[in-house]
Amino acid sequence: MAQEQISIFDMFKIGIGPSSSHTLGPWRAAQRFVQVLKDQGVLAQVEQVNILLYGSLAKTGVGHGTDIAVLLGLSGDDPVTFDVHDVMPKVERIKTQKKLNLGAEQNIDFCYTENLLFLFDQSLPFHPNAVTFQAFLNDGKAISETYYSIGGGFVVQENDSESVLSEVDLTFPIDTAQELMVACMRTGLKISELVMENETAWRPEQETRQGVWKIFETIRDCIYKGCHTEGVLPGGLHVERRAAKLNKRMLKGRSYSDFDSWVEATRAGGRDFGYILDCVSCFALAVNEENASFGRVVTAPTNGAAGVIPAVLQYYIVFHDCYNEDKIIQFIATASEIGSIFKKGATISAAMGGCQAEIGVSSAMAAGALTECLGGSQRQVLMAAEIAMEHHLGLTCDPIGGLVQIPCIERNTMGAIKAITAAQLALQSNPDKAKVSLDAVVSTMWETAQDMNVKYKETADGGLAIKVSLSLPEC
Ligand code: SF4
Repeated sequence: MAQEQISIFDMFKIGIGPSSSHTLGPWRAAQRFVQVLKDQGVLAQVEQVNILLYGSLAKTGVGHGTDIAVLLGLSGDDPVTFDVHDVMPKVERIKTQKKLNLGAEQNIDFCYTENLLFLFDQSLPFHPNAVTFQAFLNDGKAISETYYSIGGGFVVQENDSESVLSEVDLTFPIDTAQELMVACMRTGLKISELVMENETAWRPEQETRQGVWKIFETIRDCIYKGCHTEGVLPGGLHVERRAAKLNKRMLKGRSYSDFDSWVEATRAGGRDFGYILDCVSCFALAVNEENASFGRVVTAPTNGAAGVIPAVLQYYIVFHDCYNEDKIIQFIATASEIGSIFKKGATISAAMGGCQAEIGVSSAMAAGALTECLGGSQRQVLMAAEIAMEHHLGLTCDPIGGLVQIPCIERNTMGAIKAITAAQLALQSNPDKAKVSLDAVVSTMWETAQDMNVKYKETADGGLAIKVSLSLPEC
């Protein structure tokens, strides 16, 4: 039995930006709390709700939209289906009307400055991303629950198992790259095939394929929208969106009308090295500009790093002429297995491990996926993932103003390019001669995470976050 059972749909979750740990996770936690009130039959008795944000959720909560997420989660909205255009208007209504419709059923008074508390100096020992919800009932009783957002949209309570899925009998229970390799060698399966076999423990294969295709459609729509939306990002840093302008320059007037014809128009630009670099950067910028604008994105494995895997996948679709369902599912399945090895052996939470846990892991996932799709052996896939992480080790998290914008957006372009380089290196190498295994780099990343000063772990207390002074009128 593997220590944790992780499905493709745990690594890739549809949600709303800008942060999986600070937006999607707290949103899910708020929904869970409302469900507790419903299960106990007390929702209609609630008169007041307090929200206490601790540690990293307090320090970078405003910049990462934690306040917005918990208000919408308490209101009964779902991040998968909620209209992204109504995010800001609805939160503004709650603030100005001082009313919150708990679970879309129970109207209560709610004061943003009194009932939502950012406890900047308090941290809970279990995990730095903690949120407590308190509900006060009309009979004088109170109900309180604490949740921890442990990265990638995963939410746990102290007495929970980390797995969000009920235990199943996986054909291939795997915790480490070594175990994965042994299973592949024993069966002759590709990593993606092994993943798809495991997924049948949860649902029929056709359902998995449909779900993965839905993930791809969300990624596809996000890239396309990001490449065609100009303007300035919210939050007060006044960061200008760049993807749309870059896309226009790249396309040089070639016409298209939808995603498919855009792929053709992009491909028609040729294979010049500079052009390919521009394209990959454009794809990554597009996703992360959407993410920073509270757009609909897919955690891959987090929101801050949501652009790396889509950019490499889009590079594969455009420049390797591989816009077909089987190949896209193969890409996403392989990436998910690499990500789950990092989650089990280290972390995908920047509050635990800095940016190596976000951009580093996403780059490793993308490198492995690209390598398998380009015909690499299972050992070359693991080698590519190892190379990609090896050159992200120690990467700190220091977002300016606590916003997921600088350095985050550009950093996704770097993660994508490193992933492509790592895949090419692995494809041109003999993995028998590799000196560093993927398991070694996973455990090195975890040890580096534990040694890393807390100011570099999504607190905005160090690095660029304090070196570069930019006025933030909204924060
Ligand atoms: S610096 Fe990296 S880990 Fe930190 S918020 Fe930005 S993308 Fe996420």
